[in-house]
Amino acid sequence: MSTVEPILLTPGPLTTSLRTRQAMMVDWGSWDERFNQLTASLCEQLLAILDGADTHHCVPLQGSGTFAVEAAIGTLVPRDGKVLVLINGAYGKRLAKICEVLGRAYNTFETAEDEPTTAADVDRLLQADSSITHVALIHCETSTGILNPLPEIADIIARHGKRLIIDAMSSFGALPIDARKIPFDALIAASGKCLEGVPGMGFVFANKTSLANAAGNAHSLAMDLFDQHSYLAKTGQWRFTPPTHVVAALHEALLQYTEEGGLPARHQRYADNCRVLLDEMAKLGLRSFLPAAIQAPIIVTFHAPKDPRYQFKAFYERVKAKGFILYPGKLTQVETFRVGCIGHVNQAEMKAAVAAVAEALREMEVLEF
Ligand SMILES: *Cc1c(COP(=O)(O)O)cnc(C)c1O
Repeated sequence: MSTVEPILLTPGPLTTSLRTRQAMMVDWGSWDERFNQLTASLCEQLLAILDGADTHHCVPLQGSGTFAVEAAIGTLVPRDGKVLVLINGAYGKRLAKICEVLGRAYNTFETAEDEPTTAADVDRLLQADSSITHVALIHCETSTGILNPLPEIADIIARHGKRLIIDAMSSFGALPIDARKIPFDALIAASGKCLEGVPGMGFVFANKTSLANAAGNAHSLAMDLFDQHSYLAKTGQWRFTPPTHVVAALHEALLQYTEEGGLPARHQRYADNCRVLLDEMAKLGLRSFLPAAIQAPIIVTFHAPKDPRYQFKAFYERVKAKGFILYPGKLTQVETFRVGCIGHVNQAEMKAAVAAVAEALREMEVLEF
């Protein structure tokens, strides 16, 4: 086995900086005042990224991103509420599954995996069913990399007087979202995506009024964001054991985020990564699944070569041996693979990754694309 760790070109966990990993070398006491300050500073910095301090609370939650999504739906949608779930990929389907498991009434609206939901769709759907109270949307659908038009959809939902829940897991921190302009009840993201922390906690930006009215909604003790927030506000501490090392790493990652130049700089680096990736792969004859206009600079889905000598598993192993971890495709209809543009990587790593892809395909004698 190689002693050099491969670079992760996956949408979380992803490649983090040495400085972020080194921040985990301390054992923090969860009762310690210094740790409380770390949590408070973390929430303040997160709220600042979307200018949400006036309108929203940041509620951190232990677990992977899905835990936070489930907690947001369970806490903010009343038990007699009804959710319209907008789907164009696997994460949208997961939102519907969450509603199903939690026993919240829901409708789904599904478009093809290369077709964004439109504001006109949402307008029509809300007109047709006045019992809908909430709309749930994936901002960047990570199963392909498609970007849904959040500002337009949020605007229509507000005009209907309905509430919006946004899974912005793979976009928050890299794509601009302004809480002063985009009305939402909840926006959910996590430590191990575009902020380049390690995985282990999510956070929900919850509208202050909506959260204040959410007592008793939750189906679960540990996933109750109302309680989680109340306890944190009262004591400065997490309710139940915090993921101390994850918090410390995310705090350190956020300092680097600011030093890099905040959201515009992060966005630019990922956009450059994405452009280099697309250009270099095109030179090999590998085509991207999505047209450029709806491609977010987060993760790119490529059509797999048609050559019968191509097999994802063997391809993956060969690219990994050259130092890069790719991601399998998540589409049911077409054979694809995915490459992430996010993480502590830049254009040089993207070029090297495509060179590794070229070499792997040559070794496999894949000729037909
Ligand atoms: C990563 C991600 C999640 C959370 O997935 P986990 O495996 O629970 O971390 C949710 N939604 C989207 C769009 C994501 O990219």
